[in-house]
Amino acid sequence: MNYDRREFIYGIEYFKFAALAKKLRLTAQELAGVFRGKFETTMRDTSVLAGGESMEHYFNRILHGEPNWEVMIPFVSVITFFLKNVQLLRDDGKISLCPCGCGSYAGGGNNLAWSTCRYPVAKGFAKP
Ligand SMILES: [Zn+2]
Repeated sequence: MNYDRREFIYGIEYFKFAALAKKLRLTAQELAGVFRGKFETTMRDTSVLAGGESMEHYFNRILHGEPNWEVMIPFVSVITFFLKNVQLLRDDGKISLCPCGCGSYAGGGNNLAWSTCRYPVAKGFAKP
């Protein structure tokens, strides 16, 4: 895994992860199971995040964009999972990446992944 990737530097917005989870048909419960023990901050109760939130509640919020879709997921284990599955779905032709060519997944459609991404200039319309 290339940890220089922007996803590891900035995180994954909820809307990008939710789009991927939808493609993988994963529920909040299943996601909580995948990441159980991977990033909780207390050993006392391994199903609770900092602040007392359960894993199920956290992934449920991500899948519903609460409090908003631009919140970043900072956990390396989730980012690694995201990038690995983006690669697999991409290889299977099931998703397309950011149209700028940066290699990031923007949640599908014609969305740009990062604020610095730009749509490629169509051939024949390029300025001299
Ligand atoms: Zn891009």
